[in-house]
Amino acid sequence: MNKHDLPDYLTNTDKLLLQEKYPNLEEIIIKLNQNYPVQYLIGNVDFYDCKIIVNENVLIPRFETELLVDKLIHRIQNLKTSSLKVIDLGTGSGCIAIALKKNINVDIIAIDMSEKALEIARENAKENKVNIQFQKADMLRFDLNDFDIIISNPPYVSKKEPIGEEVKYEPENAVFAEKDGLYFYEQILKKIGNSTHKPILIAFEIGMNQASLIKEYQIQFLPEYHFTVEQDYTGKDRFIFLEKNRL
Ligand code: GLN
Repeated sequence: MNKHDLPDYLTNTDKLLLQEKYPNLEEIIIKLNQNYPVQYLIGNVDFYDCKIIVNENVLIPRFETELLVDKLIHRIQNLKTSSLKVIDLGTGSGCIAIALKKNINVDIIAIDMSEKALEIARENAKENKVNIQFQKADMLRFDLNDFDIIISNPPYVSKKEPIGEEVKYEPENAVFAEKDGLYFYEQILKKIGNSTHKPILIAFEIGMNQASLIKEYQIQFLPEYHFTVEQDYTGKDRFIFLEKNRL
């Protein structure tokens, strides 16, 4: 590629100036033409008023996940309880944990299996000046007994589902899950069902056709919980909240 491949509406001088200012412009254009996510090229995204650094080791934070954070903040404030202990399972870039911590006073542990993701998450916490305890751990082995609130945006896309070209550049193990995408919901709810001290609130981001199937896991493993589904900006089922029925 050379300056002749830049858009026709630019003059030759514009093209030369652009190439001078951005020596790797060519590479950027090639990547964009291959649907490489612009967020990875820029290196950060704005998420719920937090600057979140991203690279190929983390899922790019989505708009719907900002809505999850917003809903969580309101729900947690409504609990009117202090010193709540929160865990974020599969934190990735740390966006959920960081946005929560920036807005409400809770204790947060955020775990992920990927050390490379945790590196970014720690950097993001520092950038946003929040104190979160990050730990490398498998969410299905971690002791979940001691938390008041359990949050997760786990991988939930079915391996059979067609996905956007850009998603192919994101970490596979942050996007896809077995059992038509339901594997982590089933396993997390089963694990909480077997624990002695259960949380007050469990919150998940989910795939748009998964709510009724996840409700079946809830009935099986946590029948004492109240189940609510909520929708994203496009009206699709996207969030699930399980609350322990207060007697
Ligand atoms: N919502 C993302 C997508 O559709 C996937 C995020 C996830 O699996 N948690 O690509």
